Amino acid sequence: MSTENTSKTVGFLGLGHMGGPMAANLIKAGYEVLAFDPVPAAQDQARRDGATVVATAAEAVAAADIVLTMLPNGRIVLDVYREVLPSAKPGTLFIDSSTIDVADAVAAAELAVAQGHRAVDAPVSGGVGGAVAGTLTFMVGGPEADFADALPLLEIMGGKVVHCGGAGVGQAAKICNNMLLGISMIGLSEALVLGEKLGLTHDKFYDVVSTASGQSWALTSYCPVPGPVPTSPANNDYQPGFATALMNKDLGLAANALRTNGVDGQIGLLAAEIYNRFNQDEAGKDFSAIVTDIRKRSEGESA
Ligand code: NAD
Repeated sequence: MSTENTSKTVGFLGLGHMGGPMAANLIKAGYEVLAFDPVPAAQDQARRDGATVVATAAEAVAAADIVLTMLPNGRIVLDVYREVLPSAKPGTLFIDSSTIDVADAVAAAELAVAQGHRAVDAPVSGGVGGAVAGTLTFMVGGPEADFADALPLLEIMGGKVVHCGGAGVGQAAKICNNMLLGISMIGLSEALVLGEKLGLTHDKFYDVVSTASGQSWALTSYCPVPGPVPTSPANNDYQPGFATALMNKDLGLAANALRTNGVDGQIGLLAAEIYNRFNQDEAGKDFSAIVTDIRKRSEGESA
């Protein structure tokens, strides 16, 4: 996390699990933050963190040089942009860090530019832990000059910032990564349950596969069974971590992008279906708990 101090004023909309600590890090680095969230508990926390909490989103935007949004979904991002853009100073830089559909990200940027402003999409990975520690990875889509202006702010909240391409391409990087993560967690979990049926212990599975061609981040950093990686959520009754509800959301966005762009993404679509089903009962569990569902559905299936 950089500690650069600046006199710029930031409007911050959406102070939830992610936005709250991100705003707090900007305040610690010397930014003045005008914050808005409709939920009183989020407002109270922002006040304790040193933000100036205002009564409307438009008020948070009116005096800002840069506006950051960290909102639940694309519909809300577009609604908020439509609401606040007329109140912003000409040339205000809008940074949306929510995870939303690529098409919505492009539409949001077009709305901002049409009203004389600037915009980048800058979704993150790294979760609440990364938001608190200021070590998020930002994947940015938008014009080079706007990326350059967003960079000092993003470097305060992040450990890595990548300019991925034009409008929407930051969101593209986010959903491509998370689609691959969902697919690899399902594949790894199927292999683990098959190993269990065949008499292969988790420790021996890990010993072999972690240095063989089946190796993956899901196995070596986030192992979905207790034991081999002591810090993984499997060792803590699958408390998130990265909740199934969020993986389900991201796979839905990926599935939509696969279909919209005519990609023959059969495994990505299947992963979205599998997590959608798991999400009906276990939305609050870590996404690596999918292994428990595969194990349960495999009971009594031996020939
Ligand atoms: P959250 O639900 O905790 O926070 C969203 C906040 O937006 C809430 O406080 C809500 O009251 C506020 N909000 C809703 N409508 C608003 C409006 N009109 N104006 C201002 N604020 C409004 O969600 P979160 O976990 O902080 O996630 C935020 C975004 O970040 C989502 O798009 C999510 O997919 C993405 N994300 C989350 C994680 C994670 O681990 N939680 C990781 C990466 C990306």
